[in-house]
Amino acid sequence: MKHRCSSYLALFPLFGAAVTGSPRPPQADRATTERLEMVRTQIAALGVSDTATLRAMRTVPRHEFVPPDLRRQAYGDHPLPIGHGQTISQPYIVAYMTELLRPHRGMRVLEVGTGSGYQAAVLAEAGATVYTVEIIGALAEPAADRLRRLGYTTVTVRHADGHAGWPEAAPFDAVIVTAAAGYIPPALVEQLRPGGRLVIPVGSIYGVQNLVLVEKGARGEIRTETLLPVRFVPLVSGLR
Ligand code: SAH
Repeated sequence: MKHRCSSYLALFPLFGAAVTGSPRPPQADRATTERLEMVRTQIAALGVSDTATLRAMRTVPRHEFVPPDLRRQAYGDHPLPIGHGQTISQPYIVAYMTELLRPHRGMRVLEVGTGSGYQAAVLAEAGATVYTVEIIGALAEPAADRLRRLGYTTVTVRHADGHAGWPEAAPFDAVIVTAAAGYIPPALVEQLRPGGRLVIPVGSIYGVQNLVLVEKGARGEIRTETLLPVRFVPLVSGLR
């Protein structure tokens, strides 16, 4: 019996706990339960229905992307501070923006505002190859390490000012900006392929911000649509 157990364990190490009856780490258990609950009550209940988006939100360990002392709040219906005056967005907003990009396997996405790396991980989990740019070096480096440690090999992080996009990796099927801009940076629209979609919060940090969807048509024509009021940290200039 002992022998059978250990060979089974060798074949299916992930199910080892279930086979031996030993408890799985309580943190992992609670996180998984909370994550499924988060998707059910905060995301699917509010109308997000894209299968790849919901699957990714159910899979990415959000608690790994927040500071250790805030892990217990990782699955709450709110943004959280991630240091350096920045925040990880509320789960619903991450899901809503992801769905807007129509995620699918093999698509190329540019993200401006890596922050913790969570949004990039959600896009990667949904099948995208992600190029993500962060202006604060002290966030870019740990985010890159975290993504590598968690196995998100299709995400590349760059410490740079995202206003310029990532010309060498363009064109992109989608662009997502996770900080509020006073205007839509022209380089980001240029780097979108025909048929591509860009999602960006537009407005000032003091006044109203709106999430804006920019679609580039097959002949390069631009259509914009204002979707909903949001609250993001500002898109800034000057590498730090
Ligand atoms: N998407 C992140 C949350 C980002 S918060 C996540 O999932 O955790 C917005 C981020 O945009 C901050 O980290 C901020 O430093 C960054 N940022 C602000 N202006 C920027 C710019 N011009 N280029 C790149 N990143 C910028």
